[in-house]
Amino acid sequence: MTQALHQLDISLLKGVGPKMRAKLHDYGIRSIQDVLFHLPLRYQDRTRITPIGALQLGQDVVIEGKVVAADIAFGRRRSLVCRLQDGTGTTTLRFFHFSAAQKQQLVAGTRLRCFGEPRRGAAGLEFYHPEYKLLAGDDPVAVEERLTPIYPSTEGLQQTSWRKLADQALGYLEQHPVAEWLPPQVLPGRWTLAEALRYLHHPPTDASLYQLQEGQHPSQQRLAFEELLAHNLALQQLRNETRRFGAPALDGPNDLNQQFLAQLPFPLTGAQQRVSEEIAADLASQTPMLRLVQGDVGSGKTVVAALAALRGISSGFQVAIMAPTEILAEQHYHSFCGWLEPLGLSVAWLSGKLKGKARNAQSELIASGEAHIAVGTHALFQNDVEFARLGLVIIDEQHRFGVHQRLSLKQKASIEVGQPHQLIMTATPIPRTLAMTAYADLDTSIIDELPPGRTPVTTVVLDNARRDQIAERLNAVCAKGQQAYWVCTLIEESDKLQAQAAEASWAQLKETLPNLNIGLVHGRMKPKEKAEVMAAFKAAELDLLVATTVIEVGVDVPNASLMIIENAERLGLAQLHQLRGRVGRGSQQSFCVLLYQAPLSRNGRQRLSALRDSNDGFVIAEQDLQLRGPGEVLGTRQTGLMSFRIADLQRDEDLLDGVKDAAEWLLKQRPEHAKPLIERWLSDRTLYASV
Ligand code: ADP
Ligand code: MG
Repeated sequence: MTQALHQLDISLLKGVGPKMRAKLHDYGIRSIQDVLFHLPLRYQDRTRITPIGALQLGQDVVIEGKVVAADIAFGRRRSLVCRLQDGTGTTTLRFFHFSAAQKQQLVAGTRLRCFGEPRRGAAGLEFYHPEYKLLAGDDPVAVEERLTPIYPSTEGLQQTSWRKLADQALGYLEQHPVAEWLPPQVLPGRWTLAEALRYLHHPPTDASLYQLQEGQHPSQQRLAFEELLAHNLALQQLRNETRRFGAPALDGPNDLNQQFLAQLPFPLTGAQQRVSEEIAADLASQTPMLRLVQGDVGSGKTVVAALAALRGISSGFQVAIMAPTEILAEQHYHSFCGWLEPLGLSVAWLSGKLKGKARNAQSELIASGEAHIAVGTHALFQNDVEFARLGLVIIDEQHRFGVHQRLSLKQKASIEVGQPHQLIMTATPIPRTLAMTAYADLDTSIIDELPPGRTPVTTVVLDNARRDQIAERLNAVCAKGQQAYWVCTLIEESDKLQAQAAEASWAQLKETLPNLNIGLVHGRMKPKEKAEVMAAFKAAELDLLVATTVIEVGVDVPNASLMIIENAERLGLAQLHQLRGRVGRGSQQSFCVLLYQAPLSRNGRQRLSALRDSNDGFVIAEQDLQLRGPGEVLGTRQTGLMSFRIADLQRDEDLLDGVKDAAEWLLKQRPEHAKPLIERWLSDRTLYASV
């Protein structure tokens, strides 16, 4: 029987000795199939020669001509400058790094073919460090017949090596099948896998560079579909893995929930009610819940979390609530103490900053089972923290979604208790495409209703140069007995610099607005100081609160009706939306002023306009994705998680519904195909390492 390509080792290919093999292994490439699935990032057109007289800025081209002169120029940086001429014009090749041998080669009369991108330089259009080769004699030399693929690469692997590998692998493809794991009826278009791979490694002469660059070619769509499917399946597998253990049924009596609701100063909204019921139904089952709750800023997710927690506690289990930052965790700690201690429940606190005796005391509460609920940061899930009977984990993800974090929870499962249920809450809505991919393993509930009596916030975008106007506005608002926030932002995530910036603004505002009582709060203050300032603001003893982005979360002062955000262009849309959610909580008309430092980039302008034009977190989330891309929105850009070889979430959004259906079909009809499909696309990913 002929072996399939995924069974053939790369060492069969010429040029792959032990060293090269090791290098490719590091890159996740082991089989000949892997070589074929290492797809070009883009293509160059070296199929024709562009006359020098017809050069245009910013396009990769091949040119050919004779060297007129080559000299060393001593400008700001020494460079070798070579003038090249064909019948139509003259251009300059410039080399900042060059060898003596190179200088000797480039003598007048030498014929050269170059490839590169002309830029504007001192002497008109210039090529900086173009690829070039010498042509012997005057006979015409053939150009490339096909578009030239450019592969993603790593140090020590040349493009020419990748091309040689791909060429040989395509040769193997003639004799050996590449397994089709999908039947044609679930695929978009008619391309077979082999056809698609061949096309993309060796685009034919007439291939459209534009279509390929845009990723719109049917061969690309064929592969993108399969890649998205592989990701989807990997997440589903993860889900099945998690679910294999079983969980405790959290179906105890409802008294605590009732007491809690009775002490709340408001009734639940319809959406809160519905979502809480969905959660309660999941919790009552012996399959671990994996549920994502989405809801706009201020939709009341915390109450929903509390109701879930009470279901766990009344069933005799502990609940952990984890937030991604210290400040958010603190806020939750205060909310939960306020709500649950009156019910006679005990709340533990754990964070990275908590050390020594204090930490041991809290760990002990958790380990003995004395604490009903533990609130904290990641510290909750460190190895030395043992829960007596953990039944439910609630993760508040803010807008840094931790695709990877939810994986590590498995280790907190214990044999006798089982896997804890998981509830994940996002601070702001997730764009649909991301919800369907990065969160494909979770069931979703949406709180699509705000508590009554909120008035939409009017947002204004204002040049920093006109900030004087704001002083008047502030005076007027505060004269009416209302309050305001002034938010300082910095790009650096350093607490210290943020605090300094806020202190500077505070000092300045006190000078400009002598009639107002102005407070200051930032992340470097002691928790007690912070709490005092917040309490004073809440009691309306302060008119204006100058703050860093620490107030983004949890702060709730309905009498505040104006927010000014300095350097708003520095923040992401989701974060701005979250901040803005601190006003518009009362019945009076509220305003948010986004101050920007001119000049504003195009992208910056679009971001601020998006915020001005909408109050709907779901709309803003979609805009955020378009403007920043999935890596930034998911917070996974640096880690490379959720990155694709060929698929592009925005471009390929249309494929997602089909992918979801295909995944369901495959898991039912051909479950044995899931694993090889995942391996084909995700062999080099750490995200799914535990699959
Ligand atoms: P988020 O969804 O942004 O986390 P929170 O849970 O912080 O929102 O709730 C925002 C504010 O709305 C809080 O002050 C909370 O007490 C209040 N709230 C929550 N649910 C309701 C409700 N059903 N009716 C009125 N106010 C509510
Ligand atoms: Mg919240």
